[in-house]
This record gives sequence, C-alpha cells and structure tokens, in this order.
Amino acid sequence: MVVIGAGQAGLSTAYHLRRRGLRPFEDFVVLDGDAAPGGAWQHRPSSLTMAMVHGFHELPGAPLPPLAPLLPARDVLPGYFAAYERDNELPVLRPVAVTSVRSESPAPDARLLVQSGSGREWSARALVNATGTWTRPFVPRYPGAERFRGRMLHSSAYRGPEEFRGMGTVLVVGGGASAVQILAETAAVARTLWVTRTPPVFRDDPFVPQELGRAAVAMVEERVRAGLPPRSVVSVTGLPPSPALLLARERGALHRLPMFERITEDGVVWLDGHAEHVDAIVWATGFRAAVGHLALLGLREPGGGIRMDGTRAARDPRVHLVGYGPSASTIGANRAGRAAAVAVDRYLKTTAAPSAPALAALPS
Ligand SMILES: Cc1cc2nc3c(=O)[nH]c(=O)nc-3n(C[C@H](O)[C@H](O)[C@H](O)COP(=O)(O)OP(=O)(O)OC[C@H]3O[C@@H](n4cnc5c(N)ncnc54)[C@H](O)[C@@H]3O)c2cc1C
Repeated sequence: MVVIGAGQAGLSTAYHLRRRGLRPFEDFVVLDGDAAPGGAWQHRPSSLTMAMVHGFHELPGAPLPPLAPLLPARDVLPGYFAAYERDNELPVLRPVAVTSVRSESPAPDARLLVQSGSGREWSARALVNATGTWTRPFVPRYPGAERFRGRMLHSSAYRGPEEFRGMGTVLVVGGGASAVQILAETAAVARTLWVTRTPPVFRDDPFVPQELGRAAVAMVEERVRAGLPPRSVVSVTGLPPSPALLLARERGALHRLPMFERITEDGVVWLDGHAEHVDAIVWATGFRAAVGHLALLGLREPGGGIRMDGTRAARDPRVHLVGYGPSASTIGANRAGRAAAVAVDRYLKTTAAPSAPALAALPS
C-alpha cells in the first residue's frame, strides 16, 4: 500500500502501519513531494516562531524535546520530523510528487496505479492520502485583480514584513491566525488595513474551550459526510488572544473593515464608493485540500467535496484521506493516521485477494 505525503498525517499513518506489522518498503511506502522532511512546516515564514505555534501536538510516541520559543518553527520542526522518520525506520521516498492515481480495472478491489512526476510508478491495493493543503493556496476572485499594479501575494509566499518596509499601505485579507500574524508584523514597518468577509470573533480564552473545539470539528465532519468541501474551523473557534493578536492590537492593526467590492490599478473600492490607495495586498485566505492527483478515481460528489466515512472515501474502500477536513490539525492528523492504519490493515487482510502483495514498484 502507498501513503502519499510525509507531513504529520502521513508520518502518523506510517508509524501505526509499522506497529501493526506492515513491513517498510515491502508492504508499504511513503511518497513525499518535498525534498526534505518536515511537511508544510519547512515552508512557513521564519517569523513564525515556536512560541507562535499554538496547540502543536507531537508525533505519536515521540515527545518534543524542550524547544527555544524564539526559534522559527521552520528550523525546529523539520529536524524533529527527520529524526522521527529515522528512529522509526519509516520508508519515506523523496522527492516523489504523485501526479495521478488510477484504478487498474473497474473491479472494486482492483489495484491502484500510483504515478509520480519522475515517471516512477507503484501498484498498491490501498492508499492513504496525506497531502495536506500547503500546495494549494486559495485566492478568491475579485473584479479588477488582474489590473492591480502593486504587489499581490498569498500568505504562503509571505516571508516576513521586510519587503513592505517603506511601502505606503499594505492590505491584509482574511480572518484567521495567518492574517493576524502578518498584520502584527507588518504594522511595525507600514500602514496596514485589514478586511474580512465576516466580523472577527475575539476570544478571551487562549485555549479553545473543549465544547467549541468539538463543535468546530463536528461542523467540518458534517460537511465532509455530506460530500461538501471542508471549511476552516476558525469561523467557529474564533481568534484566541495569541501573542500575535496582542501585538497586532497594540500596534493598532485590528480595525477590521468589511470586504471591498473591487480592486483598481492602485487600490480597492467598497460598495459605498469609499476607496483606499494600497501598495500591496496579502491574501491570507487559506488553502484547499491538495487532492487533484486523485481526480481519476472519481471520488468527488456533486457538492464538490469528497464524501467521507471516518477516514475512508465513501465511494472507494481502497482510499483513505487523513489530515483532510475534520482531521486537518496536528491532533486530528495523529488520530486520523491511527484510524486509517487500523482500517487499511483490516482491509488488506479481508478483501478478495489477501495474499496479493500490498505494494509493488512497477518498472519505469
Ligand atoms: C501558517 C499555518 C500555521 C499553522 N499552525 C498550526 C498550529 O500551530 N497548530 C496546529 O495544530 N496546526 C497548525 N496548522 C495546521 C497544521 O499545519 C496542519 O494541520 C498539519 O501540520 C498538516 O499536516 P499534514 O500532514 O496534513 O500536511 P503537510 O504538513 O502539509 O504535509 C503534506 C505533505 O504531503 C506532501 N505532498 C503534497 N502533495 C503531494 C503529492 N501530490 N505527492 C507527494 N507528496 C505530496 C507535501 O510535500 C508534504 O510533505 C497551521 C497551518 C498553517 C498554514
């Protein structure tokens, strides 16, 4: 069998597959598109320090060593992930970006053919997809965006506030933790404006109260069970008083405006005609699930999402998705990895051809 992606969700799955007796490289392999360990953490801006990472859950069975809170997460966590892969002898191959997965035949338990960009191909009886969202930044469409002459970027391309120093006004779009962090930092070097679709809800409690966390997960769970695309949980959990939020408030950067109506060559205009000149627009508008390589399996529902039954794709018992929808957090990824490993192990032992190899590398 094949796991696609070696972030928190993929490594948790691999760890539990090993514990259940699946043999690295013989029974399963983890294909990862990045050149180095660490999943999405290696790409985060260096200004995201460990102190700013909230609620990070360690990988299963591997306590995080005491960490300096001021070190960037992108420097700390990839080392921790690399040691985890090594210590647990996880069969990660990289860089291997999977470009497509198709079924060998229409039979419900046919083998899955997993194709990579380099031309290497694997045949597997089951698949756990753990590709996260980092490779699919989402920018909503607003009229006039193509005419804007200033700097426009998604938060995934943000490398810290320095590039905005000396600029007139930087507009940040989005109501989540990334927007708040970018505002906090950028307000020290430029004038900032903040726009969000719905008014932000500020929470007093730094920790997500249990019932709120559960409600957020339940909301996303319900969407994926109905075959709708998953949604961000921030709309339910609100914004906690994180160090970034307190700094943004202190710097006067939290005066939120509603969404503008259109973008002009040098700014934005609201429905009531109010206009602002802006020099840069940062879209902190989130990500979508990176599942395009699964298109040939026909997992999508008319609602646009993949209907899920636990971690299993409802339309295909060979396919599990972890770190998707309700499990898109570090704790969710841990739990989903375990659940998927248990279910896949059971599937391999009970489907029509239990003696067929779970994995085979095909000649390229
Ligand atoms: C800015 C930011 C801050 C966050 N902070 C926190 C936090 O403080 N606490 C928290 O709990 N969560 C946080 N999250 C969410 C958290 O990052 C995720 O829930 C979790 O780390 C994602 O793990 P993952 O394994 O699902 O995905 P990723 O870490 O993105 O790993 C996916 C892996 O799949 C690989 N991949 C992708 N496509 C392919 C392909 N086609 N073929 C092969 N490999 C592929 C990638 O190379 C990558 O290694 C944050 C998210 C963001 C964006």
